[in-house]
Amino acid sequence: MRQSELFTKTRREAPADEVAKNAQLLVRAGYVHKEMAGVYSYLPLGLRTLNNIVQIIREEMNAVGGQELVMTALQDKDLWSRTDRWDDDKVDNWFKTSFKSGGETGLAITHEEPLTRIMTDHISSYRDLPVLAYQFQNKFRNEMRAKSGIMRGKEFLMKDLYSFAKDEAEHKVLYDKVRAAYVRIFDRMGIGAETYVTFASGGIFSAFSEEFQTVSDAGEDTIYTDEASRVSVNKEVYNDETLAKLGLDKDTLVEKKAIEAGNIFNLGTRFSEQLGLTFTDESGARKPVVMGSYGIGPTRLMGILVEVLADEKGLVWPLAVAPFAYHLVSLGKSGDDITLVADELYDDMVKQGIKVLYDDRDLSAGQKFAESDLLGMPKRIVVGREAVATDVFEVIDRRTGAVVKTPRAQLLG
Ligand code: ATP
Ligand code: MG
Repeated sequence: MRQSELFTKTRREAPADEVAKNAQLLVRAGYVHKEMAGVYSYLPLGLRTLNNIVQIIREEMNAVGGQELVMTALQDKDLWSRTDRWDDDKVDNWFKTSFKSGGETGLAITHEEPLTRIMTDHISSYRDLPVLAYQFQNKFRNEMRAKSGIMRGKEFLMKDLYSFAKDEAEHKVLYDKVRAAYVRIFDRMGIGAETYVTFASGGIFSAFSEEFQTVSDAGEDTIYTDEASRVSVNKEVYNDETLAKLGLDKDTLVEKKAIEAGNIFNLGTRFSEQLGLTFTDESGARKPVVMGSYGIGPTRLMGILVEVLADEKGLVWPLAVAPFAYHLVSLGKSGDDITLVADELYDDMVKQGIKVLYDDRDLSAGQKFAESDLLGMPKRIVVGREAVATDVFEVIDRRTGAVVKTPRAQLLG
């Protein structure tokens, strides 16, 4: 894409009320627009990044047999009343509204209830199990805290997958598969080393859940990790009983600030019993389906990547999620020989299917480099006088600053 055609502009200042580093940088770089506190629009560069994150998650969910669907944002009050999750004193972050024709509805906070009900139309025998089904869908939560930028939205994207099994043993197989897929997701995004599978409270579902916590000073959570085993415990369940159960020694644990990027739950038969999702087993007996739920926030992940990887000059994207692999920066003025060489290289790269953002604007080198740093593509190719003379280009690694002189043929290979 030619930068002269990109409608978004960068800016020097973030919104005055924005305290989170991730949102400050993403707004300044034109990746997102702040609508209101905790509510953000994704602009072209931001959407490309988000879509790359979504695609990695989708590939990993498909690889373990997940089937993608999409459910509604508007929720049926009667359904949520059956599981006792409609009343505001049971779930305190609903956005609710009413129909002109009468009756209330709520904007989706999560989807255990609707998917369990959908499955009652499709699961009736042990032969119909197991099932893994997932979606990417905007969730709405009336969050009180709004200090974390896109990491804590009132409207945000979630990937939520749900598992349906005939018994605990079958459930365990699914759970372990999805857990391993989550580990791969964090590895592919380049934050595997900073991300700990962490014991946490089960919330409303069960005694424990497992959280994927990425270490960062911007985190709202506190975790205790044992570096040798990489076992980690959330502060909310950090007590002598839990440590004994996990075989952890207080003295070897290190306290860290972290951000929850994902959360996986054993739901047991709570929802299937309440909503009548049963099946007939091999002996003809009617039984409730054993369920699990597995959440991960692509928009929060995008914020985490900024918190963990950005530097004082701006964004730094890993190649796997960057909107463009290369930022081609021409130091030419329109019509000169530098511009001709840059145009030609750009056309050739596009023909090769290489993702490249081409800064073809008439601006000073200083301005262009500062903006290129802010935008954060993994590699910058500079086209200046030397490149015209030699057909060799300076390629600068955004993260390390390392410069490699690269001949044209190699750039296109
Ligand atoms: P938190 O404790 O941070 O509020 P949660 O326990 O409410 O998170 P879940 O309900 O398990 O989160 O949601 C699954 C995933 O969705 C989380 O791991 C996180 O990645 C993402 N997520 C949850 N709330 C938000 C939010 N307000 N904004 C962005 N992403 C979110
Ligand atoms: Mg929450």
